[in-house]
Amino acid sequence: MTEREADEAGLAVSLRGVTKVYDSGLVALGPMDLEVRKGEFVSLLGPSGCGKSTALRLIAGLNAPTSGTVRVSRPAAKTGGAHPVGFVFQEPTLMPWTSVRENVRLPLKLANVRPGESDARIDEALAQMGLAEFAGAYPRELSGGMKMRVSLARALVTDPDILLMDEPFAALDEITRFRLNNDLLALWRNLRKTVVFVTHSVFESVYLSQRVLVMTSRPGRIASEIAIATAEPRAEDFRTSSDYAAYCRKVSNALAPSYPGRSVP
Ligand code: ADP
Ligand code: MG
Repeated sequence: MTEREADEAGLAVSLRGVTKVYDSGLVALGPMDLEVRKGEFVSLLGPSGCGKSTALRLIAGLNAPTSGTVRVSRPAAKTGGAHPVGFVFQEPTLMPWTSVRENVRLPLKLANVRPGESDARIDEALAQMGLAEFAGAYPRELSGGMKMRVSLARALVTDPDILLMDEPFAALDEITRFRLNNDLLALWRNLRKTVVFVTHSVFESVYLSQRVLVMTSRPGRIASEIAIATAEPRAEDFRTSSDYAAYCRKVSNALAPSYPGRSVP
């Protein structure tokens, strides 16, 4: 399938027979097949070291596959600096020496967007993440959750169609994580992005996604997929519902074989 055919089929991401062997000879991934529809929220769930970050980096174009094809739909040319994907890492990776505003400006600068146009877009991204009042703050003045919000604003500022998120909330306390989960769902609904979310948390994957893709241990492949069909929009009460518990059990069971010899943590 060409990029164009994938695009016409309504796919945001398509991986076919993708493998990744690192220079060390380590076989990290695959062969992996994956299709993500435009506007879908999908989680990749698997044990540490199974190749989740590798898969995300291949989709982002940060690494090349050893074999197979990776296709990502390109947005129709819209505003300057538009990039097909935005990437959010587990660490907020902010520049400590400059303000929130300048941190969010970075991708626009790299894309040579005019400063006049940048300012309006930065304001919008900051507002989307509830950061309007913190534009002048420095990273050291912010909590872990706020730093992650800045990181998300920085990913959104180029208005990507696809958000790739690599365990973004794993280091946060539970209440902050739950808030960010809800804010992310609201963003996804309002902005109609495609989200590929990597996590090793069963609970987080079920809460957020329309589809959970369970990976095998290394080299990672998709072992099974579970559609989370529940009433939308989801809110906090979903977390305590019997529906949620049942899906978590189902996903845990699907994940169990990826942890040989142990029960799922
Ligand atoms: P996950 O994100 O699921 O924890 P990764 O994709 O980071 O897994 O890594 C998969 C495997 O590939 C691991 O064994 C890791 O040590 C290895 N790996 C990751 N990046 C590199 C690299 N640049 N060179 C060699 N090995 C790597
Ligand atoms: Mg990882």
